[in-house]
Amino acid sequence: MKHRRSIELASPGHHAVEIEKETLATLPQWYVLHGRCRICRHETSIDGREIARRYGHDLSLANLAKRLKCQGCGNRSDNLLLLQKLPRD
Ligand SMILES: [Zn+2]
Repeated sequence: MKHRRSIELASPGHHAVEIEKETLATLPQWYVLHGRCRICRHETSIDGREIARRYGHDLSLANLAKRLKCQGCGNRSDNLLLLQKLPRD
């Protein structure tokens, strides 16, 4: 069985997001970021603007995923970055 990628994109629909290229600055604003711990399944929403202030707008989503730390168990490795697309009015 193939090893699952460490990052899942939960973006339904047609707008594919390339996490290696996409950064906090280029990510369309109707996406909401979530992080999920691979170990304890703790899930939390991520404030993209807060992350951008701390790490800079040029941080790629792939790099952001690597920096995720679980607030439940403290796990730092292999956490998932999930993208949720908000309905646009
Ligand atoms: Zn955890």
